[in-house]
Amino acid sequence: MAKKGAIATLWNRSNITMLIIIILGFGSVFFRLFQLQILEGDSLKEEAVDQQLFDKVVAAKRGSIYDVNGNILAQSVSAWDVVIAPAKFDDKKENDEELRKIVARGLADILNEDYDYLSKKMKQNVYYILIRSKVDAGIKDKILEFNSEIYDKYGIGEVIELHENYSRYYTHDNFAGAVLGFVGNDGNGLEGVEYQYDEELNGNSGRVVIAKDATNNPLPYQYEKKIDAVDGNNLILTIDENIQSIMEKYVRQTLKEFNVKNRGCAVMMNVKTGAILGMACEESFNPNNPRKLQDAKKEAEINALPEDKQNEAYVNALQAQWRNKAVSDTYVPGSVFKMVTASAVLSEDLVKEDERVFSCDGSYSPYEGAGYISCWNYSGHGAQTIEEALCNSCNPAFMQMGFMLKREKFYEYYVAFGFSEKTGIDLPGESNSIFFSTPGEPHGIGLMDLAVGSFGQNFKITPIQMLTACASIANKGKLMTPYVVSQVVDNKGNVVKATEPVVKRQAISETVARQICNMLERNAKSGGATNGYVAGYRIGGKTGTSEKKVDEFGNATGDYIASFCGIAPCDDPEIALLCYFDTPDPEINYYGSAVAGPCFRNIMSEVLPYLGVEKVYTEEELSQLDTSVGVYDNMSVDEAKASIEKDGLKARVIGNGKNVIAQNPTAYSNIPKEGTVVLYTDEESRKTKVKVPDFTNCSLSDVNYLASINDLNVCIMGSSIDESMTYAKTQDIAAGTEVEPFTVVTVVFNQDNHIM
Ligand SMILES: [Zn+2]
Repeated sequence: MAKKGAIATLWNRSNITMLIIIILGFGSVFFRLFQLQILEGDSLKEEAVDQQLFDKVVAAKRGSIYDVNGNILAQSVSAWDVVIAPAKFDDKKENDEELRKIVARGLADILNEDYDYLSKKMKQNVYYILIRSKVDAGIKDKILEFNSEIYDKYGIGEVIELHENYSRYYTHDNFAGAVLGFVGNDGNGLEGVEYQYDEELNGNSGRVVIAKDATNNPLPYQYEKKIDAVDGNNLILTIDENIQSIMEKYVRQTLKEFNVKNRGCAVMMNVKTGAILGMACEESFNPNNPRKLQDAKKEAEINALPEDKQNEAYVNALQAQWRNKAVSDTYVPGSVFKMVTASAVLSEDLVKEDERVFSCDGSYSPYEGAGYISCWNYSGHGAQTIEEALCNSCNPAFMQMGFMLKREKFYEYYVAFGFSEKTGIDLPGESNSIFFSTPGEPHGIGLMDLAVGSFGQNFKITPIQMLTACASIANKGKLMTPYVVSQVVDNKGNVVKATEPVVKRQAISETVARQICNMLERNAKSGGATNGYVAGYRIGGKTGTSEKKVDEFGNATGDYIASFCGIAPCDDPEIALLCYFDTPDPEINYYGSAVAGPCFRNIMSEVLPYLGVEKVYTEEELSQLDTSVGVYDNMSVDEAKASIEKDGLKARVIGNGKNVIAQNPTAYSNIPKEGTVVLYTDEESRKTKVKVPDFTNCSLSDVNYLASINDLNVCIMGSSIDESMTYAKTQDIAAGTEVEPFTVVTVVFNQDNHIM
């Protein structure tokens, strides 16, 4: 008891002491304010009474944003607000006006600001006028120098003040804008995670309150109170800087190649967790300069408008550029959606995998009285299994599946795959789908809606909804909630918040998911999606070419969405990727296979090796790579050459040394018959690199020629190598990649297809 009493007394004493300090501190300020405002009010008003209690906000440092590997993507760096306090001039001085002009002139030069404007500001007798916010250290130093100069020469002290603030700085220009977003001039997040996690990033600003008299002399009681700012927390994203930049590179390349009118995007997801590894929306904004239009063509269009229309057009164009196409746009998914219809049919056990029950003679009337809807292949696909229908992307077969399912079940799976709700991704502005709404019909689905809906037409979903559904097929049927922030971490490294993967529901059974994965793999290997195939990797995918609009007769107007959605590696899928292009130029090509397929393949061919996914060649691929390379290290050049020739291969020596110090391809790797092995004989020679050319659309003889002039080995793949019929469709190492001489590039041939 006694102990408690002592502590209580101590507590009381310290509390009372605190109370007295507070009363005295604030009391004197309040008394002074009362005195100033009420008693001396009139006489002081002209001397800016409200500046007496100088109240300055101390900015909190906004948290940083890191990629999944801890690479910094966004941070706040120190900057300074330039503030003038003209009340600090002494207007009783004879040369007062002259001095104010000198300061205005000097500051105008440093800030490159209008002299007349500053001169006017210098005449106002107030303590706080913000002239420029967030100047960098260079300007800050110039101002400090100028301050000491005018103090030495004229005795002018502290008329120009520098208040510490922070400026947001993004490590890479034009990078990951849709995910990162940007901050406004007030430092608050406006788009992306900067907006979504604004509260976590912001921290709490502090304050300094200082009381001074009208001529800047501290008041007798010298009141100053300071509350420290609390810095914001940091975000660790699921985005991988490397993957993101690979994705951005190929999306931009595709936009250019196909003269795409309304931008495009690619999104990659870890199918097991829902973590987004990359989200490239191009042309996006530059987070370091978000108010600059990236599309030069658009900017020229706006500048050509009448002047009174320009402003509104510019604002609209900016908003379009800030829009996250992957989560805010809705689009007609087209044939990519067929993986959903096929999943539903198999789940309901309406057909066996080996039953050839779907028929196509080029067009189909889905119900009594309906018109005929044609297949992209006017000559028809004949009788097909469900897998063949998927690989042929046959619309009549999918209409037949739709009518097997009927409207209730079609809707049930639409809901199960998450299309009737937002995915819940932690990014702002997510849209929901736009489904059929035919009055009086079950779930708003009319019979014609069912017919065209079964092959993905006439309803709209978001790219992130489509990707999430595809990822669930790769994830044994489990639909995940996608996310971009994995952790919120404070400045000491403590995890404040961590995102746990959320399984939304089991959309389909593991068995059906497995069946569909296999079908998608066969589709990429030899069906309609070969443009997305990368030799050595088990990739599965589906193309989509959807009509954005149809005219009153149901004919396409020429505006298409070209997309490609797929997974890898198919035996144990890790990632799902959707590439989507809004209105490619139909004069060039608008098919999903031709526009989005190569983008998908190029991204996969770089990301899969980066993620450490091992290449597993099929037997067919291995039969082409039938010679094993020997060990030539430490042999003399002559010995090595003889050994290589004995193995039925060719040798190429680089360097001036006498002995072999390294070789490519490496020992024990398989290379094509009569391939070449390079022997390096000194360190300098190992720096030699060659560039992989673009083999796609080349004939077999052209591919061989290109390989020989570029010092590469090629492994030719493809089911029917008939020179007159086939062209190179894919290559496992992207064009432009720098590799060691005589690296093996696998080139896949296939018959040309224009599969929707
Ligand atoms: Zn067909």
